[in-house]
Amino acid sequence: VDENAIKDHWALLQKAKKALEKNRFNDVRILENAEEAKKEVLSLIPAGATVGAGGSQTLKETGITDALGKDRTIVRHSPAMGLPERREVWKKAAACDFYLASPQAVTLDGKMFFMDKYGNRLAAVIFGPSRVVLVAGYNKIVRDEREAESRTRNVAAVKNAVRLGTKVPCVKTGECEDCSSSERICNVYLGLLKKPPATEYTVILINEELGY
Ligand code: SF4
Repeated sequence: VDENAIKDHWALLQKAKKALEKNRFNDVRILENAEEAKKEVLSLIPAGATVGAGGSQTLKETGITDALGKDRTIVRHSPAMGLPERREVWKKAAACDFYLASPQAVTLDGKMFFMDKYGNRLAAVIFGPSRVVLVAGYNKIVRDEREAESRTRNVAAVKNAVRLGTKVPCVKTGECEDCSSSERICNVYLGLLKKPPATEYTVILINEELGY
């Protein structure tokens, strides 16, 4: 492990934290690694709470959703569910005590960006749960809004499309083709530019490469 790189990432995370705080996201925490982040989320969300969760590689890799599932109720759809059933689950997920998700990009000027196929995850991130918990590894940090959009399309979406085995052009070309495929996974784009006043957030930034 390159100690200097770790220090550089730490400095980037500090800068993002300060900028997020300036944009009124008043609970931003930096954790050293996935294990610490998992402990932090477990101590934040009490046993018995209801927790909505979006599909997120970061939450999977950190083991956060699995650990919470032991004594909290996790509300999320399963791949076998059809759309009518998913719609019901998504409405319940957005009405939970907590909602967990991971942004595709966090900018050094304190904004967070998300891309979604259906928009259920983004709806819950804007309004509904009592507290939204957003988790991101240092690899999600970018300079500004322009880089955020590029990262969201050309890195996060492409990797997700590959993971899901979706039949979209970026899986072959390795970059976003702004496709018209019916299987397109990038239909809704959200920017949290400043904290929406009716929603509370905890942002957990992790000094490790996690998710897409
Ligand atoms: S818009 Fe289409 S081509 Fe671009 S990343 Fe999304 S699925 Fe891939």
